[in-house]
Amino acid sequence: MNCLDLRDLTRKELKAWVQALGLPGFRATQIFRWLWTPGVRTFDEMTNLSKALRTELHQKASIGSLKKLDLRVSADGTTKFAWLLTDGRIMESVLIPERNHFTLCLSTQVGCAMGCTFCHTARMGFKRNLTSGEIAMQALAALEHMPEAGRLKNLVFMGMGEPLANYENLVKALYILTDDHGLNFSWRRITVSTCGLLPQMLRLGSEVDVGLAVSLHAPEDSLRTKLMPVNKRYPLADLIAGCRQYPLARRRRITFEYILLGGLNDSVKHAEKLARLLRGIRCKINLIPCNPSHAVPFSPPTPSDVESFRKELLRHNYTAIVRKSKGADIGAACGQLYAELNGAESANCASLS
Ligand code: SAH
Repeated sequence: MNCLDLRDLTRKELKAWVQALGLPGFRATQIFRWLWTPGVRTFDEMTNLSKALRTELHQKASIGSLKKLDLRVSADGTTKFAWLLTDGRIMESVLIPERNHFTLCLSTQVGCAMGCTFCHTARMGFKRNLTSGEIAMQALAALEHMPEAGRLKNLVFMGMGEPLANYENLVKALYILTDDHGLNFSWRRITVSTCGLLPQMLRLGSEVDVGLAVSLHAPEDSLRTKLMPVNKRYPLADLIAGCRQYPLARRRRITFEYILLGGLNDSVKHAEKLARLLRGIRCKINLIPCNPSHAVPFSPPTPSDVESFRKELLRHNYTAIVRKSKGADIGAACGQLYAELNGAESANCASLS
């Protein structure tokens, strides 16, 4: 088994590798096209390459894949995939049906180190970063599963892990996913969500043009620190100042995500504070009523509290949307991703595939 996985490479990197083998650069485009064609898994399927070249590739490199370990379909059509990785780890992605298209929620790490108290993934602890190939292959594998490939439009990096804590691999995966010789996703339809790793957030804005979502969840430091340990490192004043200087493309707005936790951060006073905090930032606010989970000690807000919170934000002229929770019945909703089989039990998982 060869360790260089060609699916980890951007087309530019693949070109350099191919040239180092003494081959012309255009071969990289041919190979890249095959690598990102749904259904292609082996070098032997790359029929416009000579037999000799296919043999050479086979000796020098490999083509990574995700093994589908489990698939659950929710009553609302949301599908959660559990993928078995080559080292026995497991991660998940969620395919969400919208009115006319699908959105895929991708993971960037196995587990997470951020320790947010309301999030199920945090309970796993941090296992490892996903490679750029593992990140991008989630889209390829979802496409292989779907009848109409064209309908997968939006990619959101809101699955397991903190995307900006795996910065290099995230950005490489973005280049792979948007390559017009590959899956050709539109930069406009990609959103990266962060708990607020400030330096990486500003770096992302200066390097690529993707949508930014910031998980806020509290309008004051004392409460936010209790919910999200990352707030000690990057307190609200710094984070919001960072959002104000974020190089936002003209057509874009920052999305702020705010989980409503019953009785904790869901009062009209909190809404008013939030409105003041974000004043002047071109943004929209997604309100996410807390998803129930047996592992986290918070309860959902009452419907009337959700409505009053939203009304207060509207009164201050914000766009505020209550996000309908999808896939909660199969543990696929926000904050519910948790690959229970990870770790010691993974040997058993391998036998399931
Ligand atoms: N680490 C990144 C990406 C994960 S995104 C981030 O924090 O943004 C997952 C989204 O689901 C985040 O907005 C997160 O705060 C939210 N979430 C986590 N636990 C939740 C829960 N129990 N109920 C509702 N939303 C939750």
